Amino acid sequence: MFTDHMVTMRWSEDAGWHEGRLHARQPLTMDPAAAVLHYAQEIFEGLKAYRTDDGGVALFRPEANARRFQESARRLAMPPLPEEYFVESVRALVAQEREWIPEIEGGALYLRPFMIASEVFLGVKPAGEYLYMVLASATGAYWKGGARAISLWVSHEHSRAAAGGTGAAKCGGNYASSLVAQAEAIRRGCDQVVFLDAAERRWIEELGGMNIFFLFADGSMVTPPLTGTILPGITRDSILRMARDEGVDAREEQYSIDQWQEDAASGRLVEAFACGTAAVVTPIGRVAGPDYGFTIGDGGTGPRTARILERLSDLQRGRAPDPHGWLQRV
Ligand code: PMP
Repeated sequence: MFTDHMVTMRWSEDAGWHEGRLHARQPLTMDPAAAVLHYAQEIFEGLKAYRTDDGGVALFRPEANARRFQESARRLAMPPLPEEYFVESVRALVAQEREWIPEIEGGALYLRPFMIASEVFLGVKPAGEYLYMVLASATGAYWKGGARAISLWVSHEHSRAAAGGTGAAKCGGNYASSLVAQAEAIRRGCDQVVFLDAAERRWIEELGGMNIFFLFADGSMVTPPLTGTILPGITRDSILRMARDEGVDAREEQYSIDQWQEDAASGRLVEAFACGTAAVVTPIGRVAGPDYGFTIGDGGTGPRTARILERLSDLQRGRAPDPHGWLQRV
């Protein structure tokens, strides 16, 4: 459910960033030749504002989203929005809409900063005008019926990103190109698609909108490295840091689909989960491909996955110590 207000700000070659405003949510009037509608210069972010147990409202690592938004902008030849404008725009909208945050468990205000090329021009070149906006929507828990273990379809046909491409940027085009693979996953009776690397079709990369972790019987954990083809998730980074703070051997390492299948069968791998802002931490119960299928652990939610979900949710809601200063009160 979208809230009543939004933020807009414009950028042009001569004026730079200007006209930053918080105002009533309203439709956009756009020329049909606006560059974004033809050449897809569009980037976005996703973060949440949470109600904390002491009755306050807090954002989780908004400056990390601001920096990723700048990286996405650079990759798409768009003007990077200064970090302080990003954080201030999000804070202003949250302050205005704080009453919208649902008081249910898992409730949050989901914030969607995004930027489009608004110049009216047909021709392949970086646009000379851009429009930055922030929307907010009230959200409940991501999965209907609570965090049950999901099943993954391994796409051997479609890849999400190749070396040198836009995989590490959060641009709309990446999601457009993932839709057929996600639709295939659903057709095959799975919840989500998991992509392999484009070169060898062997290494696990990420889901359509979540990063992935593998947990081993020896207590260690692995997540694919940031080689430019996966999105550097802020949840991924937070989980890695929390694990390392606890002395867990948390490695960023390539992991192949064959190894995953072998380790799940031998019991070397005991749990796996997907993670991201929207769904936080989601256990993976089953994995299927064109001619194989295997179960992770007993197919349900493992104890370590449950604990990571609880620790992160507690931190985001101000129920746990925050040693890195990740919560930003609004
Ligand atoms: N990968 C992709 C492709 C995503 O869209 C997202 C969601 N932003 C993630 C991973 C997780 O990122 P984050 O933890 O920052 O939400």
